[in-house]
Amino acid sequence: MTDQHVAIITGASSGIGLATTRTFLENGVAVVGVARDPKKLARAAENLKCLPAPFSVIALDVTADDAPARAVTHALDTFGRLDHLVNNAGIGSPLPVHETDDATLDRFLGIMLRAPFRLAREALAAFGDEATIVNVSSTYSILGGLRGGAYSAAKAGLNGLTLHMAAQYGSAGIRSNAVAPGVIPTPMTEHRLKLEAFRRLNYDMTPAARWGTPQDVAAAIWFLSSPASGWINGQVLAVDGGWTSTKFLTEEALSAPREKMAPDWTHSGRPPKKSP
Ligand code: NDP
Repeated sequence: MTDQHVAIITGASSGIGLATTRTFLENGVAVVGVARDPKKLARAAENLKCLPAPFSVIALDVTADDAPARAVTHALDTFGRLDHLVNNAGIGSPLPVHETDDATLDRFLGIMLRAPFRLAREALAAFGDEATIVNVSSTYSILGGLRGGAYSAAKAGLNGLTLHMAAQYGSAGIRSNAVAPGVIPTPMTEHRLKLEAFRRLNYDMTPAARWGTPQDVAAAIWFLSSPASGWINGQVLAVDGGWTSTKFLTEEALSAPREKMAPDWTHSGRPPKKSP
């Protein structure tokens, strides 16, 4: 077995997963990148080939029954070991509960709760004596988010999974933590960020006077995967410029006329009441 650590990172072809892959490679960790679109994966591999550690990709849908076995087997066949799992693949733009049909609910839970659970289960059997799991959750798992629906439910479930695994496997040298990013401009949030109300909900309530970046989240994921965080287990770390933990409002929002502060997008009502 070589000394080089090996990570599986899902959603490695874009946004937070791509930045995380770059950070791991820069730090000498070999990465197996998982995503569905082989072209996007190939583009990522081309861009990252100059980094000091090797990057191998496998195109698969994390919700497929055989996805966990295929990803872990690929890591072991290619690099001979597995030390880190980053469950990052996800989708956005959820709907409020009353607008969410069963297919949508199943899709969100499938990608962002069932798949991470199953991949963790597979990875646990392949890990060596020390290993880490980082689940990419969301600020929408920590507090009520407008229009969170199935997304909030899946991410809150992911936090629960993280805490359970921390307790269950911590004594075996396997640490489990989660990061909960605030809104980060990526392809996932691109079209929502075109909405003034969505931008203001996030920017105006964040003390930091800038948007977060995929690198901000990647740095936290790397920290929780590296020996520097060796005494940290079972945490959900908000990476959000203070959005979740403060009651901040920009001067502009504080002084805005009240009637301008309730954009339609945020309050889409509730299901029509049934008559008695
Ligand atoms: P992107 O859309 O930029 O990237 C998503 C990645 O996941 C892509 O590589 C995509 O590749 C992959 N993916 C999506 N579905 C599947 C699937 N079924 N099987 C395998 N791979 C899949 O999103 P972000 O980087 O913004 O998001 C990454 C994670 O961060 C998500 O879990 C998201 O919920 C979380 N997050 C993001 C925030 C943000 O504001 N951006 C805020 C809070 C949390 P492909 O389409 O080819 O499969």
